[in-house]
This record gives sequence, structure tokens and C-alpha cells, in this order.
Amino acid sequence: MNLVPFHPFDTSTFFPELPIQISEVPGFATSTLQFIREDKLPFGFGTKWRKALGIIQFLKENEIQRILLWGAIHGNYLASFTTILRRSGFFVDVVAYTRDPNLHSYNERLVRGHSHTLVCYANRKTAYEVWLQKEKKYSGLALPEFGIHPGQKYGLISFWMELEKKIKDSLNSFSFVPTSAEFHSHEAIIRMEIGSGATFLSAFDYFYESPILVQGVMVGETKETWLQKREELQKQLGLRNIPIPREQILEIPKNNEKSQTHIQFDNHLNKTSISFGKQSKSSKDWIREFYRNTNILLEPIYSGMTVKPLLREINEKQIAPIFYLHQGGQIQHLDLILEKSPK
Ligand SMILES: *Cc1c(COP(=O)(O)O)cnc(C)c1O
Repeated sequence: MNLVPFHPFDTSTFFPELPIQISEVPGFATSTLQFIREDKLPFGFGTKWRKALGIIQFLKENEIQRILLWGAIHGNYLASFTTILRRSGFFVDVVAYTRDPNLHSYNERLVRGHSHTLVCYANRKTAYEVWLQKEKKYSGLALPEFGIHPGQKYGLISFWMELEKKIKDSLNSFSFVPTSAEFHSHEAIIRMEIGSGATFLSAFDYFYESPILVQGVMVGETKETWLQKREELQKQLGLRNIPIPREQILEIPKNNEKSQTHIQFDNHLNKTSISFGKQSKSSKDWIREFYRNTNILLEPIYSGMTVKPLLREINEKQIAPIFYLHQGGQIQHLDLILEKSPK
């Protein structure tokens, strides 16, 4: 094989700025809800940028030039890590899987275009076994799925530090009136989905015993199964072993067809009324409607699942201002909102 000479870019010059952008949501008072717009980071990679940067710092400190990744070929994890690592000068080996070999996607193209070597299998188990075999004799960093590795924290901690400052500044600019009588001592809530749970655990660790409460929302699995893995995950991420209070992990209520209330939200700024739709709407339609009302595109698996219940909750009861972390991943799903071009 003809190896490209190894010249990692200086990350300080290659990396785009990754500013923390906090925005309000049309129809909601700033004092109730704001979005942390990680979706606006380049390529829609979202918070994966922060994690990948952390891994790169680890690779540089340990003079590792080669990395072995594995994961779903259509997912944001593999697309972002492959792209960012390749563009930073690392040699990138990829073991991927897809459940539908005929499907082609934005993420898949990023993975294909940025891996030096790539094998793709039709099921996850085979891909994992191949990765395990390769890992044994790999002369570089063999990164577990979702990038679960202590190196992530170098990128995430600086993010939490800066975010904490921004949230504190924001809290000084308004006063919040709770709509729930429930006593609560927290000044603000940061809410995010739990995929692997790495981002949540990092935030939980950072904000532990601070006035900012971190909440995680289950999307892929149940709270029970995830909580059983919590301690092991904290270990693999190099975090402290701290039990998670159960009430900080939320589950999305099952779609209850009986409660088809049409939620109306008053836009305090221009007095127009914005409707976020009937609960019975398909989630794709709901994402489109939310985009039309807010210019924010949600991603169907994560944000698209949790934002509707979040809006409902804000309308009904709320204990503190909520800062919702939109972790990106939406570009893969632009077809939700783009008009089909005529043939
Ligand atoms: C990776 C990802 C998540 C979940 O992050 P974890 O740290 O694995 O829990 C959520 N949303 C999007 C868009 C992601 O790409």
C-alpha cells in the first residue's frame, strides 16, 4: 500500500471555530427555553466535534498517527469522526455496517470519502467481531463504538466550562417564574438525549453539585438497561463513579392517542400564535412544522423525539429555565424539508 506521508495539521489552524451558540425558540419566552445550537457547527456534526477534538488531543499527546473506527455507516458518529480525523491528518481505518446495503446517504458518502481503508458488513455483529480481531494487532488507537474513550473529555470539559459561563450570563438577563409548586434549588436545567450516554455522563460529572441540573432523555433504550451500564461507562470515559439520581433520567411518555390536545403557544414578541401541532401528527410532519415555525431542523432519532414532549412540559409545569442541547445530526435528513426538484 502506498501510504500518504504523515503530516497532521496543526489543530489550532485547521479546526474551524466552534462557537457556542444559544438561541431562543420562537413562541417561547427566553426565560423558559433556549436551545444550545450545536446543530449549527460545520456539517451538522454537532457535539461530535467536541468529542473528536478531545480524541485528537489524546492521539497527539501519545504520538499515535493511525486510528481504527467502527460503527453504523449511515450514522453521525462514524461520518463525523472519519471526516474530522482524516482532515486532521490521521490515517483512518474503518469497519462499518449497514442494515440496508442499497441505501445511500450523506453520512455514508462522508465515511467512504474520508476513510483510508473501509470494510462494510450487512450486520452489526459481524462488524464488531472484525473490529475485535483487528484491534488485537492494531498499531494505533482502536476506538470503541461511539468513540467511548477517556480522550473525549478533553474536548467536552472546555465546552461545559464555556457553556456554564454563557448560561450564567443568560440567567442574569431575565427572571424566571416557576409554573410548578415543586420545590427546587436549581437555577437552570441542561437537557440532552442519551445515545451511548457519553455526553450526558460527561456533563453530569462536570456539573455535579452545581446549581445547574443535567437531565438526560432516553431515546434508544430503556432507563433500566442504560442505568445498569452507567458505572462501566463512567470508567471507560475516565469519569468519577457517581450514581445518577433516577429522576435525572427521563423517558418519553408513550404516544397517548387520547390526549390529542392542540398545543398553542403565544409568541410574546409579536403576539402571533404559533401552533406546534396535534400529538397525532406523524413525527416527520411535526419536524417539518417545527422547522417552519422556528427555522430549527430537528433530527428524527434524537431531537425529533424529545422536543415535542419538552414543549408540552414547558407549557404545563416547569421548575427552572431549560437549556436544551441540540446535538446536530440533521444534515443527513435535509430531505425532510427540501422540496423535491422537478425531473
Ligand atoms: C451522538 C449523538 C447523540 C448521543 O450522544 P451520546 O454521547 O452517544 O449519548 C445525540 N444526538 C446526536 C445528533 C448525535 O450525533
